[in-house]
Amino acid sequence: MINDSHCHFFSSRFLELLAPEMGGADAIAAKLQWEAPGTATELGDRWIAELDRYDVARAALIASIPGDAVSVAEAVAHHPHRLVGLFMHNPMGLDSDAVLERSLTSFQMHGICLFPAMHGYRLDDECVERVFRAAAEHRAVVFVHCGVLTVGVRKKLGLPSRFDLRLGDPLALARTALGFPQVPVIVPHFGAGFFREALMAADQCPTIHLDTSSSNSWIRFDGGQTLDGVFRGALAVVGASRLLFGTDSSFFPRGWQAGIYEEQQRIMNSLGVSVDDRAAIFGGNFDRLFPV
Ligand SMILES: [Zn+2]
Repeated sequence: MINDSHCHFFSSRFLELLAPEMGGADAIAAKLQWEAPGTATELGDRWIAELDRYDVARAALIASIPGDAVSVAEAVAHHPHRLVGLFMHNPMGLDSDAVLERSLTSFQMHGICLFPAMHGYRLDDECVERVFRAAAEHRAVVFVHCGVLTVGVRKKLGLPSRFDLRLGDPLALARTALGFPQVPVIVPHFGAGFFREALMAADQCPTIHLDTSSSNSWIRFDGGQTLDGVFRGALAVVGASRLLFGTDSSFFPRGWQAGIYEEQQRIMNSLGVSVDDRAAIFGGNFDRLFPV
């Protein structure tokens, strides 16, 4: 069984919020050479057809700009057993507490995604404590992008990305997460360059999980490191029960990134990872964090 813990839902509304001056979703999609996303329901159905094609049971879809939880909510509402909704949240944004509350209640999101380097706050700030408090109250997961951050679609559209990478520090995250032992935390891409810090944070704080998603091209900042080595290190420190398979799939027609899955299965083979541990990484841990 495969569950994908990391996919982006690039809805029409996402494109319009991202680039309001670029003539609407269809024009932006054409510029990017993407399929036009259509309505959120249509895009959700497109995702389901894609997951079926690759035998992926369930997927977490991330609303990838503040204000787009409504789109993911619409898609999830049609496929509640297959799709889980997460949303990008800016705790420094206008009315952020009300937005957070509405996303977790009216839109039934199961995960709050923080991008501190993008929105400019520290992970041990009071505003992050408030996010964890809301997550605890609504049994949500907190996803925190640490390390290097490049947003491909922003680059392609020539949008400025003045991110402060110092703010994506897993150790500051651990400081906050330790206060909320009931809230599961996901750090994507093994910490995306802060691999050592992500392992230290996860070793200190038992709620921290790492996702395996994307091409993990941050490895080039870690002289000589390989993805095999990253898996070996993560399994040794964090263990299989806190690793979540993900692809970081996003737009169509590219669709689900089967190559990421194949490479990671190859690594499992070469490391001799047991059947039970693989089942946890590729599916079981997801079901534990996001029960149907
Ligand atoms: Zn991603």
